Amino acid sequence: MLQKQLIDKLYSNHILDHDEFRQLIDNHDEEDSEYLFELARNVRESEYGKDVYIRGLIEFTNYCRNDCYYCGIRCSNANAARYRLDKETILKCTDEGYRLGFRTFVLQGGEDMHFTRNIISDIVYSIKEQHPDCAITLSVGERDYDDYLEWHKNGADRYLLRHETASEEHYGKLHPSCMSLSNRKECLYNLKEIGYQVGAGFMVGSPYQTTDCIIEDLYFLKELQPHMIGIGPFISQKDTPFSDMENGTLDMTLLLLGILRLMFPKVLLPSTTALGTINPLGRELGLLAGANVVMPNLSPVSVRDKYKLYDNKICTGEESAQCAGCLRQRIESVGYHMSVSRGDYHF
Ligand code: SAH
Repeated sequence: MLQKQLIDKLYSNHILDHDEFRQLIDNHDEEDSEYLFELARNVRESEYGKDVYIRGLIEFTNYCRNDCYYCGIRCSNANAARYRLDKETILKCTDEGYRLGFRTFVLQGGEDMHFTRNIISDIVYSIKEQHPDCAITLSVGERDYDDYLEWHKNGADRYLLRHETASEEHYGKLHPSCMSLSNRKECLYNLKEIGYQVGAGFMVGSPYQTTDCIIEDLYFLKELQPHMIGIGPFISQKDTPFSDMENGTLDMTLLLLGILRLMFPKVLLPSTTALGTINPLGRELGLLAGANVVMPNLSPVSVRDKYKLYDNKICTGEESAQCAGCLRQRIESVGYHMSVSRGDYHF
């Protein structure tokens, strides 16, 4: 089958078989990609119009108990300058964000057990008390069922936990043996069961990733049916075991955004900071390939350059207001509109 026919088939059926996915991923030219993106934009616009949802990201701790080989805040990176934000500081960030029009806050951090079940519950509860019209997203890794349950009861609406790769073998090449894909998947199913809007996802071009790994990711996502899917290019970080590995590419990330949009017409799909880091127009191109969410940073400028998952991360010097203004212009430059709403999944 020709590439265009495969894309048409994906558009109608929302799925392809293994060999068809392989053909599309391994052999596409610029014209094929443009065709895919055009269909992806049509689908995204029929679900969400021209709206782009914004999420204010607060990176509240870079302490982490894990040692993922790709990540700059892994516990054995002695060069990472560690920090934690206290509740008052986090609330200042959400207040500022609220003034700037944010109605979703994402609290992300390493797996920092200093933030116990109760401490996180209290933070979530306080944000919700101040801003009852806002959605709260947590992204603090793998925790017990009862942690997730308690946070949900206290007002957390959504949870981001990328599965990172759906291939057991590949998972083992990215993580130490004490971590497991099965535990990560179990967390995702727990979060769904509790009633969160759940986001999974993976890095594009992570070391040892093959086309088969990517296809496994796509099938796993089909099974999980997440509300959000976060993908972005792998970018090496100089203090990790993967410091010399190649970065993921713009082309492959955009292709996969387009494919994901056709597979999941309603999914909330961010155009990520990592995409903006490998190319100055990466986030705009992501929106044009089917993404409909951006997540600017609301962390205090004093800690921003310490949340170094990867090298050369953009937007570490600007104040929140500058970031929001810059993003608005970028969104408008490609014909979309920055929405001031919670931006929930269209059930
Ligand atoms: N502790 C949380 C948050 C992790 S950081 C959790 O476990 O979910 C958020 C995401 O950044 C990770 O899920 C990973 O996909 C991505 N990331 C980490 N290191 C990266 C790198 N070097 N390049 C690109 N993305 C990276």
